[in-house]
Amino acid sequence: MASPSIVWFRDDLRLADNPALRAAIDRDEPIIALFVLDEESDGIRPLGGAARWWLHHSLASLAEHLHDKGATLVLRRGAADGIVRQLVTDAGAGAVFWNRRYGGPERAVDAGIKSALREDGVTVASFAGSLLHEPWTVTTGSGTHYSVFTPFWRACRALPAPRSPLPEPREIPGVPRPPASDALEDWELLPSKPDWAGGLRETWEPGEPAARRRLKEFLTDDLPHYDRTRDEPSAGATSLMSPRLRWGEVSPFTVWHESVGVDGAGRFLSELGWREFAWHTLYHFPDLATKNLRQEFDSFPWPPLDPPQLDAWQHGETGIPLVDAGMRELWHTGYMHNRVRMVTASFLIKNLLIDWRLGEEWFWDTLVDADEANNPFNWQWVAGSGADAAPYFRVFNPELQAKKFDPQSTYISQWAADAPSEPIVDLGETRKAALAAYDQVKRGGRSGK
Ligand code: FAD
Repeated sequence: MASPSIVWFRDDLRLADNPALRAAIDRDEPIIALFVLDEESDGIRPLGGAARWWLHHSLASLAEHLHDKGATLVLRRGAADGIVRQLVTDAGAGAVFWNRRYGGPERAVDAGIKSALREDGVTVASFAGSLLHEPWTVTTGSGTHYSVFTPFWRACRALPAPRSPLPEPREIPGVPRPPASDALEDWELLPSKPDWAGGLRETWEPGEPAARRRLKEFLTDDLPHYDRTRDEPSAGATSLMSPRLRWGEVSPFTVWHESVGVDGAGRFLSELGWREFAWHTLYHFPDLATKNLRQEFDSFPWPPLDPPQLDAWQHGETGIPLVDAGMRELWHTGYMHNRVRMVTASFLIKNLLIDWRLGEEWFWDTLVDADEANNPFNWQWVAGSGADAAPYFRVFNPELQAKKFDPQSTYISQWAADAPSEPIVDLGETRKAALAAYDQVKRGGRSGK
């Protein structure tokens, strides 16, 4: 009798370059493709609204793609441990395969399932599918994690080149009678009351086929001048791969190998390096979203929160054109250009003196590419509390940034033409206040301790 293999899809919603799927095909038994919406296991961070929207559409695309190849996507909701183990029992599965995750709670869930299933005699194997280098393979001479990007990336580049991507399987033999599945619609991942996702629908097409198309287009049209134009928010010159990488619709190995020979790819590849650095940092510091990486920042004297200021920032009503444009782009599309992310984050932390964690939470809820490493890592980078962080005295001046990177005001006119013109704070005064607060941290902060 057949003993099916379960392929447990997680942040890898693709068929090409999917080592877990490849292992299941090589085992030569029918395949059950599974996705678990786990909002119950200890410590798992519930997805934000924009991410849920993306997930819905990406799962729909994956299900269709699997169906075309001969398999069915089974959807289940609940704590993954119980669900995976029950499915193994019910289906008489002989093997479970997945690609690794690197967040602390996810690793704990996966390790628990792996050891329980192995005790029951089930084959379990996990694979590297989401990062070019496993976090434990990139260490300093003394065996610790890098805290500065440049030597980290140099060390990565000195390792054997990332493996070649695996081709998309021609067929995926499904089980004749697939186990029961939830209906995707019943998960209510899409907003309905109100339906705020119109701008997301206009902007994005989630799913592996669209991700592959965008990558191709970027490589021919944009990569050659990426280095020169990547900082201009109106240039449309970046890859827009972030949500696709977040959901694993395309693997970093594919992106790497398809870009590496192209003229001028070095800068782009080093951005993939920052993605690696953020994930490695999370692996070594699982509390990245809640705790300062550099403990001296625990003494930062955040003033009491002024809720109207936070609200003005969230909704692009600060009267600072580049900040308002960015926050409105984010609200409408679920995305914001990297340069503007830095400017809006700096404004929140350093001009409004609002704790970076509140900004991180807002981005978590509104970005389609929000992920548990890149988002907190970059917020901490801007705050100065993180790895290889911007020095605390670097306060982006949104007016100068606009002059430099949006000289014709193209981006600002697109997103913030009707924004308020009266700034809610004085940039110069608030900059001084921020520097004074940061000075306190530098002087050792925890007075009397
Ligand atoms: P490209 O310029 O084409 O870069 C290619 C890829 O490199 C990106 O898709 C991304 O995977 C990676 N990358 C680029 N810049 C960075 C960076 N600074 N750090 C880590 N990886 C990078 N990126 C996310 O993927 N998810 C987030 O939740 C996220 N939150 C952010 C929050 C703040 C405050 C800031 C300043 C940056 C954040 N970023 C995040 C990083 C960066 O802004 C986005 O990855 C980038 O804008 C995505 O656009 P792109 O794919 O066109 O990038």
